[in-house]
Amino acid sequence: MTVSIVIVGAGFCGTMTATWLLSDQTAKPLSIALVDDSYSVSRGIAYRSDEEGWLLNAPARTLSVERDNGNGFIDYCRLRGRPAEPDDFLPRAWYGDYLAHLLKQAVENPGKHQFSQHDGYAVALKPVEDGRTEVHLHTGVEISADHVVLATGHSDGRRSITVAATGGASLDQRFLANPWDAVKLPTVPDDSHFFMCGSGLTALDVVYALHRRSEKLRFTLMSRRGLLPQHHCQSPPRLQPEARRSLLDQLTAGPRHCTTVVRKVIAEHRARGGDWREVIDSLRPAVPQIWSNWSEADRRAFVRHIAPYWDTHRHRQPASTAAFVASLRMSGRLSLMGGRIETISAHGDGLLLAIRPRAATGSRVVHASYFVNCTGVGMAPAHRATASDTEPHADCIHRPIAHVCDSLFDQLRRDGIAKFDWAGLCVDESYRVVRVNSCTNPSLFYIGPALRRRFWEATAVPELLLHIERMTEIIMRQVSAH
Ligand SMILES: Cc1cc2nc3c(=O)[nH]c(=O)nc-3n(C[C@H](O)[C@H](O)[C@H](O)COP(=O)(O)OP(=O)(O)OC[C@H]3O[C@@H](n4cnc5c(N)ncnc54)[C@H](O)[C@@H]3O)c2cc1C
Repeated sequence: MTVSIVIVGAGFCGTMTATWLLSDQTAKPLSIALVDDSYSVSRGIAYRSDEEGWLLNAPARTLSVERDNGNGFIDYCRLRGRPAEPDDFLPRAWYGDYLAHLLKQAVENPGKHQFSQHDGYAVALKPVEDGRTEVHLHTGVEISADHVVLATGHSDGRRSITVAATGGASLDQRFLANPWDAVKLPTVPDDSHFFMCGSGLTALDVVYALHRRSEKLRFTLMSRRGLLPQHHCQSPPRLQPEARRSLLDQLTAGPRHCTTVVRKVIAEHRARGGDWREVIDSLRPAVPQIWSNWSEADRRAFVRHIAPYWDTHRHRQPASTAAFVASLRMSGRLSLMGGRIETISAHGDGLLLAIRPRAATGSRVVHASYFVNCTGVGMAPAHRATASDTEPHADCIHRPIAHVCDSLFDQLRRDGIAKFDWAGLCVDESYRVVRVNSCTNPSLFYIGPALRRRFWEATAVPELLLHIERMTEIIMRQVSAH
């Protein structure tokens, strides 16, 4: 008997889930359906080919996804005449090509499985008899499945956005809820001022893609604390195993204690000639354990007070991107601020933003030509909980501004199929989506950055790959028992 699996979303996670399921010939025959718009397949948000200058934020040697070839990504590039060294930060578009190549290979060699690709978006999941689910696409197509994997990734702002801060006024093309729309603007007046909410890697991508359009373009990046991502240095070695063990042994209490310990270890390590990056990178595999040991109050405190510092040290930019950003700041074209936005209104051909700078008591008014939402992954990507669930709000955007509504997740919440809390989508240890009544859906899985709520580290390729591996094993066990 063939077991059907629908994967909703074909970015990195959906593509790798499909690829690995197809390559597993040990269980029953599978019928795998992959749903996304065809432009996004294998690329998702991160690995599109819009701009070659957008670089991966990790060295090529860390990004192979093949089980039997740790050099797979580098080999793939070299075979196509693209220069690739292990420590290079290569274009993200090349990584999208690599993922597309792996999926194509798996689809061309399906063994006993079947594969289909559906161009469209899932808008609803309807449970039907025998534990099966109907996946409804916006095109009217319905696909029946024994198991559904949601691999819907980050919020991409593509869907409707309610902007309370605008007082409901139409800001036309000046308010760009989806940061990637800024890159696609057909024309931009030469002296435009782009105000970006968010100062992370997404904001830097948008600045990079726009800055060549005119030397007069100006950019302001604002986030809660006004922090930029730190940059990589040439391959810092990991801490020695004893030093790492000693560090981890000390991380037994809440976030405040852990921060003190990490700072102390960094100071000691630097005194011996080491680099802080070695300490941060050594912590990475232990993060899910540390996170799971913390209480709910600890996690909230971490998200509110420490996460911006952790994220900017953990998710770093390539040194070449940092040099580009520094040169733009030196020239006065790029400025950085910490604060929150209170209101946005239309003003002539531009916008007026009322800003509350960090630690200030009063507001200040800023004129901008465009507002670009670059808040990226908050605690509840794509599927923000209702306002009452969201305290304390984790991302830098002021709560009245954005409430991203994703019709699929709205339906899942409305029908009690998915539960959200202040930290996002609730998923159990086995990647199964938790229902509003706190039971789990036995055959509805989620894979992607929203696992942050459960494991904290679930954003970058190496961590996601581990999660995909575990989830596909769980699915295959379930398929065998079907
Ligand atoms: C700009 C950017 C750059 C990054 N760079 C790096 C990097 O250099 N290195 C690294 O390790 N990590 C990087 N990351 C982290 C990134 O989270 C992961 O690497 C990975 O791309 C996440 O994959 P995903 O499939 O979960 O999400 P996504 O890539 O967001 O893909 C989700 C897909 O689901 C689709 N989708 C959503 N809803 C529906 C629906 N209802 N129906 C059908 N389809 C739907 C979307 O169209 C999208 O294609 C980056 C992230 C971003 C946003």
